[in-house]
Amino acid sequence: MSNIANNLHTIRQRISTAQQVAGREENTVQLLAVSKNQPIESLEEAYAAGQTLFGENYLQEALLKMSKLSHLNISWHFIGPIQSNKTTTIAQHFSWVHSVDRLKIAQRLNNARSGMDPLDVCIQVNVSEEPSKSGVLLDQLEPLAAEILQLSNLTLRGLMAIPLATSEITVQQQQFHQLAQALKHLQHTFPDAKLDTLSMGMSSDMEVAIKEGATIVRIGTALFGARK
Ligand SMILES: *Cc1c(COP(=O)(O)O)cnc(C)c1O
Repeated sequence: MSNIANNLHTIRQRISTAQQVAGREENTVQLLAVSKNQPIESLEEAYAAGQTLFGENYLQEALLKMSKLSHLNISWHFIGPIQSNKTTTIAQHFSWVHSVDRLKIAQRLNNARSGMDPLDVCIQVNVSEEPSKSGVLLDQLEPLAAEILQLSNLTLRGLMAIPLATSEITVQQQQFHQLAQALKHLQHTFPDAKLDTLSMGMSSDMEVAIKEGATIVRIGTALFGARK
């Protein structure tokens, strides 16, 4: 097995164990392989080992990879900050966008997606309330969700967060818990919406995220090694 195939195996084990420890059903957590700054060959290796969901942060880099890997059945997820002049291309090339954090971006994605299957989106929430971070604050989440639910070419699937980088498990856990509570609140407020996704947990904190209800973990370093 290649290193990447080995790493993938280890990560799948970690996910499976974390699901069991949390008393969750098998296969309720999806693995998104975060391949930003990784060479095409690394994506090919992961794909050969069965990985089909890939997350990218930078549009130009992602488009190049998509064109080189167009023969593969990959689901591409955009997870980086979104500039409004990039929305058309993002809407037309990706299956999912995890990083919607304002209405203008959602509207532009919606317009660019017409005539295609609805685009699956998550709202990015700034749970740590760091000024430098993207994401809507928790107290502005519900009005934004209400607006996005009106956009017919988008399907609002849930919430995404990048918590404060810390090794303090209790702080991580509290932030994941807040995101999970926010999703529950939205599910209650909008019972007809297809709100089934918590995109949270990265290489160093996926177990805590799964314990708190993550349905997609976004893993880069643990799978591909350090970024170039
Ligand atoms: C880079 C990145 C990741 C992956 O982080 P690792 O610590 O390398 O697993 C996950 N989510 C987002 C939004 C990222 O930008």
